Amino acid sequence: MKKRIYILIVCLFALSWSAAGQTKDKFVVVIDAGHGGEDPGAIANRQKEKDINLAVALKLGKKIRQNCSDARVIYTRSKDVFVTLKERANIANKAKADLFISIHTNAAGNTSANGTETYVFTPDRGQAENREIAKRENSVIYLEDDYSTSYQGYDPNSPESGIILDFVQDKYMEQSIHFASLVQEQFRVLAHRPDRSVRQANFLVLRQATMPRILVEVGYVTNPADAAYLAKDASRDKLAESIYKAFVSYKDETLRKRQSGHSTTVADNGTTAQASAGVVYKIQLMASKKKLTGKAPEFKGLSPVSYYEENNMYKYTYGESPRREDMLAELPKVKRLFKDAFIVAFKNGVKVK
Ligand SMILES: [Zn+2]
Repeated sequence: MKKRIYILIVCLFALSWSAAGQTKDKFVVVIDAGHGGEDPGAIANRQKEKDINLAVALKLGKKIRQNCSDARVIYTRSKDVFVTLKERANIANKAKADLFISIHTNAAGNTSANGTETYVFTPDRGQAENREIAKRENSVIYLEDDYSTSYQGYDPNSPESGIILDFVQDKYMEQSIHFASLVQEQFRVLAHRPDRSVRQANFLVLRQATMPRILVEVGYVTNPADAAYLAKDASRDKLAESIYKAFVSYKDETLRKRQSGHSTTVADNGTTAQASAGVVYKIQLMASKKKLTGKAPEFKGLSPVSYYEENNMYKYTYGESPRREDMLAELPKVKRLFKDAFIVAFKNGVKVK
């Protein structure tokens, strides 16, 4: 019986892979500029969110079109028009996109809040702070007449809304978190933006899309310094360049894996990733006073390596998964290179016990 299931999985896997190989040669990315038309998004400091989002989205798309002949760019909007959240996800689903990038600008009652954050979807309600942001971004559905049927009863103002959504195992979680981390790294390193880390929240636009997908918040219009930064064309270009750099790494990795016949959407044993909300596991390798680059010999060839800062030290980690078992499986290999390596957990980008 077990063997039969195994064969079935292998067949399905082979089928879907060969189908993908035949119909797809280019990496398809859908770029979604949040809000538009009658929906301005957040407004503060003489800035409208919809304009910032569109400018960054178009710059990102242009960079990809100019430099990546192996990628195809689709915009959910390229002008100042209203598009429903559902339609945005539909565009990506119909195009069988490999990646969905939704670009937004943040707002908060606390005007000192600043910096960038990148979200992946979670079907549960998420952390209180993240929940507020998702609620604000989701509230656009009130502009649609039939929102309660379109979104299966989702009401952004109902406290229960997050949990009435059916729990669907999200097999794209790992890749989404991985891409989100690449984006946050570039925002920090290339654009020098304060890093508010990778987070999880219940964004409707992400919920309905069926591929690795993220939502970036490129800064806070409600913060005077962020608003002044976001108003500049050069800053918008830096933000687009950051997402572009992360995109190229992710695309190249994905295409390489596809060519070698591997896929990371579903683990080889046929299970899908089972994520505890907001928690990712990594293997800590070493700590150093020095800030090292990803290719540093100190990492002994391990990649991807990331770091976090603690007690004035850079602490370097390898790998990343929402499943602790994945990292446990990697640990013996890593321990051969770093004998003191151990697993660390992060919740919404913050180290936890
Ligand atoms: Zn928004």
